Amino acid sequence: MPIPVYIPANGGRCGHLDQLRDVEPDSPDSCQDCRATGGRWLHLRECLTCGHVGCCDNSQNRHATAHWRATGHALIRSYETGEVWAWCYPDEAMLLPADV
Ligand SMILES: [Zn+2]
Ligand SMILES: [Zn+2]
Ligand SMILES: [Zn+2]
Repeated sequence: MPIPVYIPANGGRCGHLDQLRDVEPDSPDSCQDCRATGGRWLHLRECLTCGHVGCCDNSQNRHATAHWRATGHALIRSYETGEVWAWCYPDEAMLLPADV
């Protein structure tokens, strides 16, 4: 699989696009960090650098954001069916796939 190509939406900027990798989700249907602690999640996000799946900022534990703070992996995408957007935490920039 080729490395996915994302471009900032809405005239935004992102200096982290070199972090994009061809990743496999480490957990296709759940936030493993929540499962380990018995927490609950709302929506899932996938790290575009290593494939870590974590829960969104509307979830109790915000594991996707925690993953960015712990690793410096700046880019995540929505892991919800039908959603194609991605997000850069440090730039607070929405990204969209280049082929959409
Ligand atoms: Zn960025
Ligand atoms: Zn979680
Ligand atoms: Zn990561």
